[in-house]
Amino acid sequence: MAKLVKHDEGEVFDIELEENILKANEDAAAKNRELLRKHGIKAIDIMGSIGSGKTSLIELLVQKLKGKYRIAVFNGDLTTTIDADRVARHGVEVVQINTGKECHLDANLIAKALDGTNLDKLDLIIIENVGNLICPGEFRLGADERLVVISVTEGPYMVLKHPFIFMEADVVVINKIDLSQAMGVEFEKLRNDVNKVNAKAKVVGTSCRTGTGISEVVEALQIDNLRRQ
Ligand code: MG
Ligand code: ZN
Repeated sequence: MAKLVKHDEGEVFDIELEENILKANEDAAAKNRELLRKHGIKAIDIMGSIGSGKTSLIELLVQKLKGKYRIAVFNGDLTTTIDADRVARHGVEVVQINTGKECHLDANLIAKALDGTNLDKLDLIIIENVGNLICPGEFRLGADERLVVISVTEGPYMVLKHPFIFMEADVVVINKIDLSQAMGVEFEKLRNDVNKVNAKAKVVGTSCRTGTGISEVVEALQIDNLRRQ
């Protein structure tokens, strides 16, 4: 057995500060939600670690849905516009949100992005969170659906090691299932791990390389039949 260092209650620095920050974030998220409702816009928060396939999934969703809905993509990234540029090729509005050193988006940043967007001209906003499986889960943005992407190439323990973000998820996408056998990581195992921490989460297997499973993601997000306002 390995030696274990465990933190005690109250021992972690700035715990009160963190609680205040989270409370302020919840308030801002509620305002975002209200604003989006008022404009009849559905918003999706896409979370997942670096390289799991968030941007690829967004590109496929945009391609599939852009003929049907007016879409904007908000792209969270520390400093670059690489992902935003990839999405912009598909001819939808893209808002780049650079977080600097911050490892997650928060509701205030989304409020700013919403403020600079013509909400009367949109049906759907897809938000790509910063690549990270820890704090994005704690900071709700005001989205209707929260989706977490993991890939079989990240190994068999991603869910067990990051249970909190999966508790927050409405939909979990297990990506790169075309590589499942080569990686020795089974979709069913990951799905069971997700449903152990969150029985309500809908779990979909995808390959963003081949397009497998994208219709099922659309169905799970309940965006196959958004009513145009
Ligand atoms: Mg990305
Ligand atoms: Zn963070």
